[in-house]
Amino acid sequence: TPARKNAKRATRSEAITITHPDREVYPGEGITKQDVADYYRAVMDWFLPGVLNRPTSVIRWPNGIGKPSFFQKHIPTGGLKHVGSARLKEETGASAVYLYPESADSIIELVQFNAIEFHPWGAHVDNPDCADRVVFDLDPGEDVSWTRVKAAARLMRQLLDQLGLECFLRTTGGKGLHVVVPLKPASPWKIVKQFAQSFAQVLESMHPLEFIAVSSKARRAGKIYVDYLRNGRGATAVASYSLRGRPGAPVAMPLRWSELGKLKSASQFNIKTAVARLKRQRSDPWEGIDKVRQSLGAVIKALSS
Ligand code: ATP
Ligand code: MN
Ligand code: MN
Repeated sequence: TPARKNAKRATRSEAITITHPDREVYPGEGITKQDVADYYRAVMDWFLPGVLNRPTSVIRWPNGIGKPSFFQKHIPTGGLKHVGSARLKEETGASAVYLYPESADSIIELVQFNAIEFHPWGAHVDNPDCADRVVFDLDPGEDVSWTRVKAAARLMRQLLDQLGLECFLRTTGGKGLHVVVPLKPASPWKIVKQFAQSFAQVLESMHPLEFIAVSSKARRAGKIYVDYLRNGRGATAVASYSLRGRPGAPVAMPLRWSELGKLKSASQFNIKTAVARLKRQRSDPWEGIDKVRQSLGAVIKALSS
């Protein structure tokens, strides 16, 4: 795909110096800042297409995980030489300069800036008002077994399939799963947000013991919250292949649906096992996602008729 080709070209330059390379970023795990940079270089061809030219927030841990972190959306004063910046209008009417990866150097420079996690928008900088991805974030409440989380993802896929929408699966590296629906042509955020909320509500009314569509922590116990709020202008979701700043250095891993059965947990893949998997990986588990042509127009028409 063109995105892959651009990414390949972009991975060539290796101009960034990592300072404090031996600083332990995951305390007690022997994983250093250099290891984080090496990880992103190793997975770059797979990782970059998922963040390239998307406004992206990074989570930085200047003193390692367990210490304070910073969720950063904007280019800091002093700047970053290799990271794209785009002035985007806020919903309030004001505007702000958002950062976006435009090459492999962007990623490595952000790692040098102590970024560990990457969280892109579901939109590209050249069309920030339209979403080209819907992300359903399945957040299991307390006392929800892993078997139920997997069954929930399967149910969701079934229902999306009935609406004629193809979807893709990834672990978050945390507790849950993401189900991602690509949109081409992209749709205005207002429509996407409305669809995401309605879909979550339909899931809840079809399976009230499994799903909940409101974020109330109290009501979430024993159920899976369908976090549809990832779908709004400026909202983010973790990128595929992003490291997480949590013990064990887990990775958000895109999977084939056929791999769901054997999946042991949302944090099954980590900085080591992810690289091993990618060395064996012949084809993209999300093969074809860029070729899928589907939009919400037909769905909304069908639902309202
Ligand atoms: P898990 O499987 O453990 O839920 P997750 O990545 O889905 O992992 P959530 O807590 O559900 O984690 O958060 C969903 C998304 O919300 C994150 O991936 C991130 O992009 C976004 N997010 C997290 N923290 C912030 C924050 N402080 N400000 C804005 N958005 C955030
Ligand atoms: Mn989640
Ligand atoms: Mn969530």
